[in-house]
Amino acid sequence: MPPGAPLGLFGGTFDPVHLGHLRLAEEAADSLGLDSVRWIPAGQPAHRAHTDKAPQVTAAQRLEMVRLAIAGNPRFTLDAAEVDAAVPSYTVPTLERLRADPAIGAARPLVLLLGADAFAGLPGWHRWEALLDLAHIAVAHRPGFPIDAASLPPALAALYRARRAESPAALGAAPAGAIVTFAMTQLAISATQIRALLANGRSPRYLLPDAVIAYIQKQLLYSPR
Ligand code: ATP
Repeated sequence: MPPGAPLGLFGGTFDPVHLGHLRLAEEAADSLGLDSVRWIPAGQPAHRAHTDKAPQVTAAQRLEMVRLAIAGNPRFTLDAAEVDAAVPSYTVPTLERLRADPAIGAARPLVLLLGADAFAGLPGWHRWEALLDLAHIAVAHRPGFPIDAASLPPALAALYRARRAESPAALGAAPAGAIVTFAMTQLAISATQIRALLANGRSPRYLLPDAVIAYIQKQLLYSPR
């Protein structure tokens, strides 16, 4: 059986999901020839527990906001398993779970989608060296400003130089192991900014989908304290 076209995987806290996330996934699907993008909201984000970045809303609410944001896009799907697990989310165990799913298996190319900031932080991730055994990595960068190995942490720069593939065709040629980059429209939007606007009673309109804003208002999320 052919292994199938590369499947994009997009994990995040999505607290809340915004247009920067949506454009990253949409542009990745187009430029990398992905069959679809599977959105994987983190359960208890491993990086943020017990910090001031711990989510203020429940995992179920973050999941629902992603569901609303991606509704109607035939290339986007939602994976609720990390939220349902209610334990800290780590990417390597998530990839192992997906590989164990018979619908994916060992041969299907998997492509982990990351913003350039998340990529630079990779050496802080649990078992990060195992990532490329399980998936490819695709890093979104600012148009005209490719990822510069010299500005990465040394261990990551070495991996980047060793595994970098120039063409997205590399993603279909193997189940895992390559690092590619793709340019995306710059949108200086962050969930932090949106939470701050809402906490100050200011409008977040046009930074995230209207359906998500309506949900936030109905559920009284991120409201002024
Ligand atoms: P926060 O502001 O709470 O840190 P965030 O907006 O960075 O959140 P995350 O859920 O932490 O959102 O990010 C998920 C992924 O989306 C990461 O890989 C991150 O690099 C990427 N990302 C987030 N915002 C943007 C953006 N505006 N443009 C491109 N990539 C983004």
